[in-house]
Amino acid sequence: MYESYWQKKGDETTVVIPGWQFMSYFSDATRLCWFLEPEFAKQIVRLHNVVGNAVTENRHIVVGTGSTQLFQAALYALSPCAEAEPISVVSAAPYYSSYPLITDCLKSRLYKWAGDARSFSKNGPYIELVTSPNNPDGFARRSVVNGSEGILIHDLAYYWPQYTPISSPANYDLMLFTVSKSTGHAGMRIGWALVKDEDVARKMTKYIEINTIGVSKDSQVRAAKVLKVISDNSEGPNEGDSFFEFSYRVMAKRWKQLREAVQQSGLFSVSDFPPQLCMFLNRVFEPQPAFAWIKCEGDIEDCESFLRGKKILTRGGKHFGVNPKYVRISMLDRDKNYETFVRRLSTIRS
Ligand code: PMP
Repeated sequence: MYESYWQKKGDETTVVIPGWQFMSYFSDATRLCWFLEPEFAKQIVRLHNVVGNAVTENRHIVVGTGSTQLFQAALYALSPCAEAEPISVVSAAPYYSSYPLITDCLKSRLYKWAGDARSFSKNGPYIELVTSPNNPDGFARRSVVNGSEGILIHDLAYYWPQYTPISSPANYDLMLFTVSKSTGHAGMRIGWALVKDEDVARKMTKYIEINTIGVSKDSQVRAAKVLKVISDNSEGPNEGDSFFEFSYRVMAKRWKQLREAVQQSGLFSVSDFPPQLCMFLNRVFEPQPAFAWIKCEGDIEDCESFLRGKKILTRGGKHFGVNPKYVRISMLDRDKNYETFVRRLSTIRS
């Protein structure tokens, strides 16, 4: 979806790397996260300051091969190692479908998926994943388990102004971000964690050292360039041409089209979101999430199969811990595919 913006920027984000550069495992041996490229670290801090979506003061930055690797590093770092039983990992349904798969993939003795946070009532320590705005339903979230021994991971992949009003800088102990959803460069496989506790940051770094001996420098250098161009264009005289203005406008248009298609069809429903002031874009708007979380109304029980029959591919509610009347649809496909999708959706009748 953001391809056309980056195409328009032409060579501004082109990176050339001579064969002799970035050969070592190390980026900065004096840093806690020794494989973090200094220029990338600088651009992360700068972009958060420009957008105002996260506190970076007194935080350690840990870079990962996507936020997917950082999520695993966080589980490793946060799990108590002296417990007889694996620590429970929970998230309120509907939750991001990869969480249970990643958590239980290696059948670890450190941590174990324990399902929907809303029905979790076990005593003792637990890890709660808070995704805000949430994938799949787009709502802003806070932790829901009321235990005293909870450890929180905030997955803020979508806390960017094209998806939701930025009301204040997020200020949590462990926050995950990724270029996949902020700039659209999912293929770079770059994410970063902002971590308050030094010991936790050290353990996360250790996990990545054991897992992949660091993170591709080529990708970090490219990511640094992309973030720099976004910050430059957000602050400079070409503000109207900024990445977040562009992506905000595309999302606004797509959500308008989606709501019209849902209304025309009459078979589906989609949530309304309360409008809020965005401190970055300086306007009031309703969240326009990266996914549409759609419910089949009436007696359609399996919305995913129903829509597959209408040539619309979705992911059904059961993957997200809820019932199959719901489906998740990506709002981030290329223009042509999105147009085809809304056209098909609008013409579905019972
Ligand atoms: N967290 C959430 C909530 C996501 O939706 C995604 C991507 N679907 C990720 C993490 C994974 O991001 P990455 O590409 O950085 O691994």
